[in-house]
Amino acid sequence: MWIFVVLIGLGVAAFGLRLRWRQRFRKSLLTMALTGHQRAIVEQYVPLIRKLPTALRGTLEGKINVFLDQVEFVGCLGLEVTDEMRLSIAAQACLLVVNTETWYDDLHTILMYPGAFKSRTTEHHGDVVTERETVRVGESWSRGPVVLSWADAKQGALDEEDGHNVVFHEFAHQIDNLSGHTDGVPVLNNGQQVADWQHVFVSAFKRHVRNVESGHPTVFAAYGATGPEEFFAVAVEVFFERPAALKHESPAVYQQLAGLFHLDPSAWG
Ligand SMILES: [Zn+2]
Repeated sequence: MWIFVVLIGLGVAAFGLRLRWRQRFRKSLLTMALTGHQRAIVEQYVPLIRKLPTALRGTLEGKINVFLDQVEFVGCLGLEVTDEMRLSIAAQACLLVVNTETWYDDLHTILMYPGAFKSRTTEHHGDVVTERETVRVGESWSRGPVVLSWADAKQGALDEEDGHNVVFHEFAHQIDNLSGHTDGVPVLNNGQQVADWQHVFVSAFKRHVRNVESGHPTVFAAYGATGPEEFFAVAVEVFFERPAALKHESPAVYQQLAGLFHLDPSAWG
């Protein structure tokens, strides 16, 4: 009997030691800078990073290190995942959380396709179940994984001013889902009120639906009219890529997102 007690004790001690070692390792990654080669790749593939205030660059690099340690990239349809792909995706994902405590705790896998991919969805309408195959450039599952088309993820980052970025979009869904629901209401920062957030986003979403229905173009992509969670994700895309236009067109949405991310991209470069 005692031998089992000793074995269980040893197991618990080994687990505790491993946990402590992981925590220390993660802390060291957070303080570690990227190599010159890695930094050059990040700046080439995600030009928006060059505009990030200098004071946040070190934090971003540390978070990129943790992200790359935590997340496994899996190439699909024969895609060979390269350092350029890993660094581009990690930099974009970490930019969203560079100045907050928010982290992708449940994310461990990113599936990468060379281009747009087919996705099968199941819809339930009463007793009727419909299966549909759609072509997508990105997908975010609650508690991971994220699925991305590399062609679109790469292009989305290279054109940093067009307001379209599939990586920002899918990682906005990941952030939204940390609250337990992907509904366009993420866990807010101290100082932000859920009632204020909902007031701003519900009215902005309704206005967007009306604009799309009447064919009136705005800073938000039309796709944002398909649901409050999609409106939040497209708003995150324009917050980082067209901050001045968003601030001008929808200052209340800009202000809420600035509070959520603790960032003010309209003042960058
Ligand atoms: Zn979406």
